[in-house]
Amino acid sequence: MASPIPVEINHRKEKGVVRVTWEDGHVGEYGCGYLRGYCPCALCQGHGAKIKFIEVPDAKLAEISAVGNYAIQFTWQDGHNTGIYTFDYLKSLCPCPECNRSKDR
Ligand SMILES: [Zn+2]
Ligand SMILES: [Zn+2]
Repeated sequence: MASPIPVEINHRKEKGVVRVTWEDGHVGEYGCGYLRGYCPCALCQGHGAKIKFIEVPDAKLAEISAVGNYAIQFTWQDGHNTGIYTFDYLKSLCPCPECNRSKDR
C-alpha cells in the first residue's frame, strides 16, 4: 500500500495541537505533548524495538519542517529536533477515535 501523504500540517499554538490533514481527507489532531512523547529518535527511544511514550512536561513545538517527501521533522522549544516522523509513523500515531478503533489492543 502507498504511504499516506499529509497535505496540510497546521500548528495551532493556542490549543497546543498539530492538525494534520491527509491526502484522503482524514484529519488528525495531535497534542504537542503526545507527539513529543512519541519522538522516534534514538535519544528518546534508545534501541528498543518497541516505541514507547516518554513523558516530557510542558512540551512546546517551535518549528515544523519537511524532510524530503517522506517525513516531518519537529523542532521543540527546548531545542530537541532529532526526531524524524515518517508519514507512515505519523499516521500510525493518529489519536482520533476512528484510528484508535482499528488498532490492535
Ligand atoms: Zn527525540
Ligand atoms: Zn485518525
